Amino acid sequence: MKCILCESFSFTHICDTCQETFLTPSIYKRKLLNNIEVISFYKYKDIKNLLHTKHTDIGYYIYSILAKNSLKLFAQNFEYSNLVSSIAIDDNIKSGYSHTAILNKSLKSKYIKPEFNSLRAKNPISYSGKSREFRLMNPRDFSFTQSSSKNIILVDDIITTGSTLIQAINTLQKSDKTPLFCLTLSDANNQ
Ligand SMILES: [Zn+2]
Repeated sequence: MKCILCESFSFTHICDTCQETFLTPSIYKRKLLNNIEVISFYKYKDIKNLLHTKHTDIGYYIYSILAKNSLKLFAQNFEYSNLVSSIAIDDNIKSGYSHTAILNKSLKSKYIKPEFNSLRAKNPISYSGKSREFRLMNPRDFSFTQSSSKNIILVDDIITTGSTLIQAINTLQKSDKTPLFCLTLSDANNQ
């Protein structure tokens, strides 16, 4: 196959050279209104086109490559006093796979145990391209089934206004769980 970025021959959808050139992660931090930190790894403009593949048949592979280069490395270097559960926002399956479940799975490490299907949006509305007002008027209405750990990391692919993560955190807090922090591939405010 061909690398989707440089079009040279490659065994993966993004060749090793392009992964090294374009997907070496940085650490960016942003605080939500409730003071919980969101750590992200890429500038939005740098991976915008890759994130858009989630709606296509190569999305699964591209998200796996993004996760391997960022979240997986983060997880391997992460240490904590107890085992932490990572929970993806809305990891229900659309078109054969869940893009946030791929990200969550990559966090599996000595101190992080990914948990699946525990946080679901009952309102399947998409916030993509929608205003802050629209998001406030149309809550995702999360339901949280439970986690084995009291220490939680929340995972999503992108943060824009932060309203999805804040709604998810509010839902967890109703069950007396507050995330240690959140992880996203990219922060849309980080251009
Ligand atoms: Zn390439």
